[in-house]
Amino acid sequence: MQYRTDPKSGNQLSTLGFGCMRLPGMPARVNLEETERLILTAVENGVNYLDTAYIYNGSEAALGEIFTRNPGLRQKVNLATKLPIVKCKSSGDFDLYLTKSLERLQTDSVEYYLIHNITSLSTWEHMVELGIVEWIAQQKQAGRIERIGFSYHGPEGEFAPLLDSYAWDFCQIQYNYLNEHYQAGTAGLKAAAERGLPVIIMEPLLGGKLAAELPAKAQTALEEAGINPDPVRLALRWVLNHPEVTVVLSGMNAPEQLAQNMDTAECALPGAFSETEAHAVELAREAIAASYKIPCTGCGYCLPCPKGVNIPSCFNAYNASFAYGRFQGLQQYVTASGAMSGSVHLASDCVQCGACVKKCPQHIDIPAELDTVKRRLQFPGMPAILRFGVKLVAR
Ligand code: SF4
Ligand code: SF4
Repeated sequence: MQYRTDPKSGNQLSTLGFGCMRLPGMPARVNLEETERLILTAVENGVNYLDTAYIYNGSEAALGEIFTRNPGLRQKVNLATKLPIVKCKSSGDFDLYLTKSLERLQTDSVEYYLIHNITSLSTWEHMVELGIVEWIAQQKQAGRIERIGFSYHGPEGEFAPLLDSYAWDFCQIQYNYLNEHYQAGTAGLKAAAERGLPVIIMEPLLGGKLAAELPAKAQTALEEAGINPDPVRLALRWVLNHPEVTVVLSGMNAPEQLAQNMDTAECALPGAFSETEAHAVELAREAIAASYKIPCTGCGYCLPCPKGVNIPSCFNAYNASFAYGRFQGLQQYVTASGAMSGSVHLASDCVQCGACVKKCPQHIDIPAELDTVKRRLQFPGMPAILRFGVKLVAR
């Protein structure tokens, strides 16, 4: 495993971090045995950064259980979790959620604590008004938090002012070859590094979108140059090619993914990206941009919808209808509706309550886009037909 130095603390962090947002069995229920095997294999092979969050359903508790089952494991990793500011209405809530996270994780402290999902400078300023700066100082003093940072999903122009608004220890940004100029982007990556901050990267595969097969031209270019044309490898190597990157998080939920990512991280040094790989990325960008209509990463932060709409799956089906054809999109849309499991919820069930909109880190106008999905993938009478079919099967 390669390690990069956290320039603020001197900690040596594995270039591959284990993202715990999509553990085996999630979002329904974490499969503890499979998760334990993955985490143990990762740590045995040198991964020493685990990233979870209060709102990752069951993730913190699963990690806590795994630490308890495996004495000594906790000391081998840098643990990161996050404060759900979307739930914080008063300063007492900061304490409440950190305490719950530590209880779930069965630990007294975390090495890296993040203010989760800052979407604008004013979001942070509101937390400051609630007394978060004083609270952080107390928690550091009490040894419950070692280092404080934030994860960012706001506009490019507000990132540098946010960096300068507080004495941060680290930051976490969305970064991949499609998002060079989106949210913090390359400018934000460089701005953080110039300020001496370690940068943790999330969404290197854009919620799995960059894991899909490469367009034929890109694949051929790589193969002719004798380079492994695997899309995940290409995307991770692109991120790790940047010397400003400290850790790249990957949400691995199968042993083969873990093995592949560890292998990639092992030889992905800054500056190791070849000209052929850079050309393949250009070709992939062009092809993906042509089919990528709604920028949903599938993070699921917008869920649950009170009307049961599976928002990310609707968007995924819509994008698939451009990438792979309308029929494929329609098939995915029917699956997304829940008809196979006996309960139908379609894009047309959205009542535009707006509860999901402020939770979306990609700033998608969800009700409006669901209407777009409906217009492309729903035909008249479809809800009634699906519901009738479900009733028939249930008899
Ligand atoms: S706006 Fe629509 S999709 Fe969003 S939570 Fe409300 S009903 Fe669900
Ligand atoms: S709509 Fe937004 S919050 Fe919901 S899954 Fe997609 S990116 Fe995440």
